[in-house]
Amino acid sequence: QGGFAKTVTRSTCCYCGVGCGVLIESQDGRITGIEGDPEHPANFGRLCTKGRSLPLTAASETGRALRPELRLTREARREPTDWSLALDHVAARFADVIERDGPDAVAFYISGQLLTEDYYVFNKLAKGLIRTNNIDTNSRLCMSSAVTAYKKALGADGPPTCYEDLELARTVLFAGSNMPYAHPVLFRRLEEAKANDASIKWIVVDPRRTDVAALADLHLAITPGTDVALFNGMLHHMIWEGLVERDFVAAHTAGFDELKALVRGYTPNMAAQICGVAETDLLRAAEWFAASPAALSLYCMGLNQSSRGTDKNLALINLHLATGQIGKPGAGPFSLTGQPNAMGGREVGGMATMLAAHRDIGNAEHRAQVEALWGVSGLSARPGLPAVDMFDALAEGKIKAVWIACTNPVHSMPDIERVRKALRKAEFVVVQESFLQTDTVPYADVLLPASSWGEKAGTVTNSERRISRVRAAVEPPGDARPDWWIANEIARRLEARLAGPQAHDCTSKLFGFASPKDVFDEHRTLTIGRDLDIEGLSYDRLETDGPQQWPFPADAASGAARRYTDGVFATEDGRARFHTTAYQGVAEPADARYPFRLLTGRLRDQWHGMSRTARASASFNHAPEAALSMRPEDAVRRGFKDGDLVTVTSRRGKLVLPVETTDDLPSGTVFAAMHWSGQFLASGGINEATIGAVDPDSKQPELKHAAVRVEAA
Ligand code: SF4
Repeated sequence: QGGFAKTVTRSTCCYCGVGCGVLIESQDGRITGIEGDPEHPANFGRLCTKGRSLPLTAASETGRALRPELRLTREARREPTDWSLALDHVAARFADVIERDGPDAVAFYISGQLLTEDYYVFNKLAKGLIRTNNIDTNSRLCMSSAVTAYKKALGADGPPTCYEDLELARTVLFAGSNMPYAHPVLFRRLEEAKANDASIKWIVVDPRRTDVAALADLHLAITPGTDVALFNGMLHHMIWEGLVERDFVAAHTAGFDELKALVRGYTPNMAAQICGVAETDLLRAAEWFAASPAALSLYCMGLNQSSRGTDKNLALINLHLATGQIGKPGAGPFSLTGQPNAMGGREVGGMATMLAAHRDIGNAEHRAQVEALWGVSGLSARPGLPAVDMFDALAEGKIKAVWIACTNPVHSMPDIERVRKALRKAEFVVVQESFLQTDTVPYADVLLPASSWGEKAGTVTNSERRISRVRAAVEPPGDARPDWWIANEIARRLEARLAGPQAHDCTSKLFGFASPKDVFDEHRTLTIGRDLDIEGLSYDRLETDGPQQWPFPADAASGAARRYTDGVFATEDGRARFHTTAYQGVAEPADARYPFRLLTGRLRDQWHGMSRTARASASFNHAPEAALSMRPEDAVRRGFKDGDLVTVTSRRGKLVLPVETTDDLPSGTVFAAMHWSGQFLASGGINEATIGAVDPDSKQPELKHAAVRVEAA
């Protein structure tokens, strides 16, 4: 890098799961510009406003974590230190806790923003060296319900679809997904397809009249949380009107009769009443979906961030299986990944409930396979604690030390005060971060400065299972280092500390990685023979052939665009499974004391806790400030007008926001964006009010819905 010549580096956008290819322009060691990569199959040169503003967010060292910092007591201020001392200190404190209280007394909370190589090293450190499965990620807040449902229904994690299906679908069902905001570049592809073929139908299921709902042929503005009743009612109509693909059901599925018995009770009339929609609209949606030559469903946090998220996903997949709308061009259930690399994290097993390469912790054969591949023994069969439980265990003193990397749980977790309590109670908190102004950094006993986008190398996997290279265009500022390197250095030191008569049989070869390529090569080896086999994919192959989809086995000429095209699913008998999904309501219904339903969601130009997007003033053009959206008549009834400050109170906490009236919400419902946090609002962000109730299968929290009251501030 350096010098005065302009350099162009091919890489990937660090924001959402679309995974757009970018060309980073740099000069004199600074990122100076960005263009969409015309050769990347996710975006063909396009970028959204977030992607376009990336150089502005990377322009300054101001607000970056530049030096390791350390404090020896909670009362002390953190002081700058050098890497050697910081790494030794973290390894020593973790070793002390593990030796005193056992391996499950430590935990890792990492991020879907990390690269696959970063994730891999963290996962191996926790599961292979320490022998704890207490490693979870903010992907638990994002995609875990989709994962659980894919595994239950199709036998394996991962969408069966690809981006090409966006152009080939004739009916598109958007469920809890506002794609123009959350996945804008993919939405442009859908818009173009519809502009070229007016017969394409768009059905949107969303309580709010979002941007995509406003463009839909049919908007089902359901009562929040009633998705399962809607899908069951649609299936009832499909069955009793003979719209089910009986040959497909007979040849490729199991469990249909049990489901049929269940949905017998979900008459369209009854389902429509539960959902608060017109019965005719429900019937029309069912007919458009079932009779379509190719029906694609696109879904996101509206289904996943729910205490019934797995059932919502399963009920939607039931529709695809019943109508044979899967495994063919333009059809299938397509979960859109929120974060840039939630998929890659799942691939390396970087969560509390999984092992490397889509293996399961509870499966002895899978543990034995990973032990053999890593050259270790005694992997823990004890399930790790998923995000909400992990912070509760910290608060209860069961976990003593936590290492948080590339995520900001004091903003993004539900019921934030629970997380604050947990971090106050913890004996030792490590925060690995690129940015200083996050809500979690003040809790760090050790702050480890991490490289950020444009400064680090590795791979990410996008929503269509496509693996792309991420490349460094410039050196990181100050003493910041790549996340994989930090984890690897501490792992080596911890390995040495833990070695002894009582220690396990790890060898120093466990963390002999010298580059991200070394890490990727080992990850690749672990995938051989698995559903996501990428033996045929190397950094060299990605260099010469560009981004590729998995699976990509050794003898493949290219990755697989779609899965299950032969009707054989990843279950033991090859049949997909229907699931009997009974409708159950939200965890916390509105009542007399908390009469409003609070919904949360994204804005178009902001990302997560805004630690990056707030660095570019253009990010505020679309929505300059936080607000509580409310229907005009609800506001009038309470004497509020636009701009009035109101207190939003739930059973867990409260915050103050200005009112913004809109016709896009149903009465009795309010909406607030998730982005603003205590860094920007004195009274804190919306997760002061959200609820920590989780889905029983996926353990994903219900971030989308809580009961609140709204009063003049
Ligand atoms: Fe980045 Fe997503 Fe926008 Fe593409 S659509 S430029 S990946 S934020």
